[in-house]
Amino acid sequence: MARNFKTLDDMGDVTGKRVLVREDLNVPMADGVVTDDTRLRAAVSTVAELADKGAKVIVLAHFGRPKGQRDPSMSLALVTLPFQQVLGREVRFIDDQHAAEVIDKMQDGEVGILENTRFDPGEEKNAPDTIERLAALGDLYVNDAFSAAHRAHASTEGLAHKLPAFAGRQMEAELDALDKALGNPEHPVAAVVGGAKVSSKLDVLRHLVEKVDHLIIGGGMANTFLAARGVNVGNSLCEHDLTGTAEEILEAADKANCTVHLPYDVVVAKEFKPNPPTRTVNVHEVAADEMILDVGPAATEALGDVLKNCRTLVWNGPMGAFETPPFDAATVALAKTAAALTKEGSLVSVAGGGDTVAALNQAGVADDFTFVSTAGGAFLEWMEGKELPGVAALAR
Ligand code: ADP
Ligand code: MG
Repeated sequence: MARNFKTLDDMGDVTGKRVLVREDLNVPMADGVVTDDTRLRAAVSTVAELADKGAKVIVLAHFGRPKGQRDPSMSLALVTLPFQQVLGREVRFIDDQHAAEVIDKMQDGEVGILENTRFDPGEEKNAPDTIERLAALGDLYVNDAFSAAHRAHASTEGLAHKLPAFAGRQMEAELDALDKALGNPEHPVAAVVGGAKVSSKLDVLRHLVEKVDHLIIGGGMANTFLAARGVNVGNSLCEHDLTGTAEEILEAADKANCTVHLPYDVVVAKEFKPNPPTRTVNVHEVAADEMILDVGPAATEALGDVLKNCRTLVWNGPMGAFETPPFDAATVALAKTAAALTKEGSLVSVAGGGDTVAALNQAGVADDFTFVSTAGGAFLEWMEGKELPGVAALAR
């Protein structure tokens, strides 16, 4: 694959070099305990590899939203010990007031975490003096935080122009997976877009119709498209003011030879609560007091057949209100089909989005997908076809 960024393989001998590594250590914490260490574990490969190669590894990261103010409750000192435990080697906290002296005394192969980059108001402004201050602490720069790459901040973008810049292992894996899914995918390509609202994903839909062969629309947003096609969606979540926009997207899809799949049978209920009385009906039979809460079994099976004829799948957004049983059925069934096709080797499957990742975990298939992005905002901006500043700055 022709890549337009350098990786750790291109760094040459890093022995004794000070390497600034931007990671995403923005972990959820309750009473001083990290409640989900996914991001800490994701940072290990790059940090350990550089330390093993004899570099002085200085991790840069933000924590919370201190908005340019020093706030002890958002100090990365709180994350240093948890990261040390996950990394399995010593990690020192580097107070930003004395950073230069501390880094000077670091041994080859040592790892440190610099204080929260967002304590400096220049971080989010990508200010030249902040970039200078950080650049003076290192010889080389590695960006391993795809999830922060949609922001042009000093530690995510500015530094890449000041120091020789490389993608970390996590960033590399993410960029390769995204390239396989939408950059240079094998066709036919299917996209599944679901979730609550059309309004939050308009740009995603507009971009995808130009890129993919099959656009599968599910979740609450399908209701707006059904309404645009004259279906009475009863009491369903529906953005009636956006039916015109939905029509425009359907027309653009038509022009681009993208087949749009909307559900033709649906699961409805009068109340939105766990295990209420439900009916499975044709979309034209939804009563005025009923809500569409999931795609029906017939449409789900037909969508599975669409995936069987595709080589690539990119998925964002659940097909139904999956948190509330039994409205996870379509999401789980389609996810299992995608996972099985991936295991067989006939499908490259890439998924992302907070609720999507939760739904795939609920279905027990996240590990069977080719790649699952936990990047949230950055993943969505990439689905919109936007250039991410942190990625663009790594371009050779
Ligand atoms: P992601 O976080 O993966 O980008 P979204 O946040 O866009 O996904 O959408 C997820 C939400 O959409 C879930 O909370 C889910 O319950 C809701 N949802 C899906 N289908 C429906 C529906 N038919 N009616 C109401 N809410 C729905
Ligand atoms: Mg969400």
